[in-house]
Amino acid sequence: MEIRIERTGTPKQKPAGALGFGKIFTDHMFEMDYDPENGWHDARITPYHDLVLSPACVVFHYAQEMFEGLKAYRDAEGRVRLFRPDKNIERLNNTNLRMCIPPLPPEDVLQAIRETVLTDESWIPTEPGTSLYIRPFIFATDVGLGVHPSKHYKFLIILSPSGSYYAGGLAPVKIIVEDEYVRAVKGGTGFAKVGGNYAASLIGQEKAEQSGYAQVLWLDGIQHKYIDEVGAMNVFFVIDGKVVTPLLEGNILPGVTRDSTIQLLRSKGYDVEERRISIQEVYDAHAAGRLDEMFGTGTAAVISPVGELNWDGNRITIHNNEIGPISQMLYDEITGIQYGRREDPFGWSMVL
Ligand SMILES: *Cc1c(COP(=O)(O)O)cnc(C)c1O
Repeated sequence: MEIRIERTGTPKQKPAGALGFGKIFTDHMFEMDYDPENGWHDARITPYHDLVLSPACVVFHYAQEMFEGLKAYRDAEGRVRLFRPDKNIERLNNTNLRMCIPPLPPEDVLQAIRETVLTDESWIPTEPGTSLYIRPFIFATDVGLGVHPSKHYKFLIILSPSGSYYAGGLAPVKIIVEDEYVRAVKGGTGFAKVGGNYAASLIGQEKAEQSGYAQVLWLDGIQHKYIDEVGAMNVFFVIDGKVVTPLLEGNILPGVTRDSTIQLLRSKGYDVEERRISIQEVYDAHAAGRLDEMFGTGTAAVISPVGELNWDGNRITIHNNEIGPISQMLYDEITGIQYGRREDPFGWSMVL
């Protein structure tokens, strides 16, 4: 694929101080269009700019869109690394299939990510734990209010330098179980990375924050009994030394960090079960003193230990509200591979 590059004549001032997450954007962006005559075409890297769109664009009314999220890391030798981009690209096309968006050739997506990141390489922060967040996304641009898959799309990639998720070390979070609202159901779009899942989750997230909790633990949409996932993270429990995580049944997002966690644990001889796990089982395990650890996994936080769980007013403290040994080991291993500090037996880290 040929990518035309138009460089900005007015580069922005790089931020000084705390970066946060998703607030600052780099000098350039990637753009590509789709129409039925030309397929995906006109790949270009342009100065970061606002878009002009018709108010009748399909995406605004019927939410035909998708997104991905991954990071670029600067290693100790100054090289730029990605972590398992093939998995994100595979998931991008799985989401597209569900959303009736035309698939993209995987090698073109990788090339788009690589060239865009390298164009704005100077924006990759170097402080420990920082990275360049990569946000590819696609949306429907047909003009009209009829309900049917769009015939025109835009594929964009924007980049955002992001700070260390744990400025003060790997701190446990408080999570509240949501038993009124649901995020997704089997047969719906839970396994697809789409904005609609997040739109449906905002009300639960608001409720959680109002009660002083960081995130929501979502239960299955039918019985409100089995655990799905946490906000933008997959979830794991350590019970009696065994690691348990909800299986992929169509209602949860197949996280790249989830998959990496399972593979790493198995390679180290841990027993990992992918199965349904009810919230009652977690509380029973806690009551019996068998719940050793709970943690979330996702690109943003990598591993997020859970220190407190609240289910309908019943609060439990997990691992004394401290980081457990498995959570810490996984965090060290995965970030070690991402930043090229540790041996990478799986070949997950890609030098650009
Ligand atoms: C992106 C996402 C995750 C985490 O996936 P990773 O590939 O590990 O970043 C988990 N749950 C939801 C709902 C997500 O959108």
